Amino acid sequence: EVVVLRLGHRPGRDERMTTHVGLTARALGADKLVLEDVASGRKETVTDITDRFGGPFEVEVTDEVMGRIRSWDGPIVHLTMYGEPVQKVEDEIRAAHREGALLVVVGAEKIPFEVYEHADFNVGVTNQPHSEIAALAVFLDRLFEGRELDREWEDADQVVVPQEAGKKVVDPDELDNPSEL
Ligand code: SAM
Repeated sequence: EVVVLRLGHRPGRDERMTTHVGLTARALGADKLVLEDVASGRKETVTDITDRFGGPFEVEVTDEVMGRIRSWDGPIVHLTMYGEPVQKVEDEIRAAHREGALLVVVGAEKIPFEVYEHADFNVGVTNQPHSEIAALAVFLDRLFEGRELDREWEDADQVVVPQEAGKKVVDPDELDNPSEL
């Protein structure tokens, strides 16, 4: 299991960023998103996408986000520009993930030092400042070695049929008859 924890959320300013952390976590193979209660309004958007485009993907809201980190029973990855290069530690993280559920922490603004201490791996996707969404996407793709790109979705109401040009979205039941495509 891979759980993404979004630490920090500035109301107003971070609404789309937090939503996109959730959508990226879902699309690129994580199983669950944990949000702080201050970001609870974002839950519905991510859940709505899961309802339409499939899952499984869970969203949990907590009022004790640091408690979740402290009591996590498994390896913890904290994505930070100050961390060790992802290309150096990815093998070790995959090995740790085989032993237990992985918590991936991404921030919004300043991260308490306790998170750096508590993390088993502080991981940089480059050591340049950029974005939690970009860092999460590259990290998950490295973790799953690209396999997440071929993931199958369950209980979708809508399925995109890839097109060289144009948009095609169908009811998944229609996919049972490939001649329709
Ligand atoms: N300045 C903040 C700090 O000192 O912690 C970080 C702000 S940054 C806009 C928001 C989040 O993006 C960070 O908490 C981290 O999770 C992620 N991030 C940004 N650059 C990163 C990088 N090069 N590697 C990994 N994560 C990164």
